[in-house]
Amino acid sequence: MASNDPVKGLKAKIHRSERYGTVQRIYTIKDEFKGKDPKALATAFLKLHALDLGLDPGLRGLRFEMVRKSIMGMHVMFQQFADGKPVSGAWVRVDVSPDGELLGVQNGAMPVERLMGLRAVKPKEITGAKAKAIARKAVSAGRIVVEECERVVWPVKGKPHEAWKLVLRTANPTGLWRMYIDATNGTILGKRNTMKRAWAQVFDPTPVAALDNTRLDPDKEVPPGAYRRVELQGLDGSGYLDGEHVSTKPTKERVRRTDGEFIFSRTRKAFREVMAYHHIDAAARHLIELGFEGLFKKPMKVKVHGYRADNSEYDPGRRMIIFGTGGVDDAEDAEVILHEYGHAIQDAQVRWFGESDECGAMGEGFGDFFAASFFHDRKPARMRPTVFNWNAISYSKKNPPHERRLDLKLNFKRDWADEVHDDGQIWSACLWELRALLGQRRAERIVIGSHHLCMRDSTFADGAHAVLTANERLYGNRNRKAIRAVFERRGILDPV
Ligand SMILES: [Zn+2]
Repeated sequence: MASNDPVKGLKAKIHRSERYGTVQRIYTIKDEFKGKDPKALATAFLKLHALDLGLDPGLRGLRFEMVRKSIMGMHVMFQQFADGKPVSGAWVRVDVSPDGELLGVQNGAMPVERLMGLRAVKPKEITGAKAKAIARKAVSAGRIVVEECERVVWPVKGKPHEAWKLVLRTANPTGLWRMYIDATNGTILGKRNTMKRAWAQVFDPTPVAALDNTRLDPDKEVPPGAYRRVELQGLDGSGYLDGEHVSTKPTKERVRRTDGEFIFSRTRKAFREVMAYHHIDAAARHLIELGFEGLFKKPMKVKVHGYRADNSEYDPGRRMIIFGTGGVDDAEDAEVILHEYGHAIQDAQVRWFGESDECGAMGEGFGDFFAASFFHDRKPARMRPTVFNWNAISYSKKNPPHERRLDLKLNFKRDWADEVHDDGQIWSACLWELRALLGQRRAERIVIGSHHLCMRDSTFADGAHAVLTANERLYGNRNRKAIRAVFERRGILDPV
């Protein structure tokens, strides 16, 4: 959050780290801080605000590295150390104008109290040679040169780890890898090919929406305008669709492209694999952007072409999404992909979410809502309250073709049908109304946040109360009446 909240009387804009709560950036400083010696000026300023920055008051653990000059002025660089080892990526930079005025601070340091735990235990460590051997094995390439091997401290999700940092240059395929290996047990904490970018073409979300054409023949190739070029994010550089948030590892005969070109048409099986990777990755990044970081401990496992039937599912036992191939292959429709990912999200929030009929229907309704809400702006208006427009094209007689709607006039007391997907439409209709009422971001934050307050067998009424509580926690109860009225009109809550 950027705000004017004062850092010890300082008149400036500040931005706090969401992870640490400490001040991450200071800019537009209104008070005047000036000095001839930029290093001395920076040091004095950091000491003065050490507490807010999460630094030691005497700046212990912070080592001056250099003053870099640029057209903007001078940049005083400090590297954080813990126990004599650099904390990888933990830099503090103080920017000073050419005439010696302090412009701002960028603070990438870990709060000093987070580093305390490191010194307590001294387990046996693996050697640098061993770390190199592990790293070499992890990048399968023709020629590997280890360019760096340094003992560091590396923050993983806000916790410091004793680690080896390695930089490896590879040929065939070419790559520049940065890797972190746990110094106590040799596990790979992070691995990234920094040289590689990858491109793909996808349906986003469907050819029906992209072309605004409901009469496409699913047995034929679609016009080129149905596809959209995207950059695939987060890939580990192995050439497989393995990344930060998604892995298609369970898929048989997976695609591998070491040149980063994942351009396939729907006539190729690899297209479905790319679809699943891209859309789940994008949804995972969206979740983080909404504030739901750390829901998933591991990349989401995806099996494309898992069933012959026209059916897909999230398997909570294996924590894996499996797509079927009946009709239009499910993974060709990004809304089906996001619906299934919706189940995975809920399971990550409340293990085995959906054990009762009503909770199960909430799960189906949420999956539809998540897909419809996410792709809202990419669809023609008349398709927005519907889902699976491409998947349904081979059997749906409706226009636009769809599997379910989010705007039906359903009432819980009157219309309960005892079929989980149909009944899900009662729930999704509520969520869709919330989105119209509150806007996308707010509605999604409240709805997804509310799952944390549910149980695996919650009722619709429990779910509605959870939504009201989430609204209160996140937005201080604004719109309470209007939100309540939605659930009352739908027969879920009784009027008070
Ligand atoms: Zn479902």
